[in-house]
Amino acid sequence: MVVRYCKKCGRVAHFYTSEVCDFCKSITLPVPEKYWLDGTDEDFVPLESKKLLLEELVKTSPEFDQQLYEKRLIEDKMIKSILSQVDFSSKSGSAVKTAVECPYCHSTNVKKISGVSKAAHTALFGIFSIGRNSKNFHCNNCKSDF
Ligand SMILES: [Zn+2]
Ligand SMILES: [Zn+2]
Repeated sequence: MVVRYCKKCGRVAHFYTSEVCDFCKSITLPVPEKYWLDGTDEDFVPLESKKLLLEELVKTSPEFDQQLYEKRLIEDKMIKSILSQVDFSSKSGSAVKTAVECPYCHSTNVKKISGVSKAAHTALFGIFSIGRNSKNFHCNNCKSDF
């Protein structure tokens, strides 16, 4: 599969499904071998060569559309920034602490008070322990409930 370029909007890419540019729907041309990465068998076009190709083949072409090219760059940037935001949020999301911390001594050695023991506690202490119903965690460090 040869890397192709679009004379109209300057897109350089593998167009797997067809020879039509996926951005502006023009027919693309294969990138000449001189722009390929030296010393590899792969038809990879490095960024520097892309710039060169753009200057030498795309911008000199009568089909080149400056507005379309700029529009494509803006969309490229938008896609990249959206992708980077997604990356960022997924990273910060995984960094969020899930452990419960005791508000009194800040120990994470806490356990969730189970429904059964809460019910048992209520049955045992009756009205005096009503306040306990709103507390869901017990700290094993300072023995407080919260
Ligand atoms: Zn195009
Ligand atoms: Zn505590």
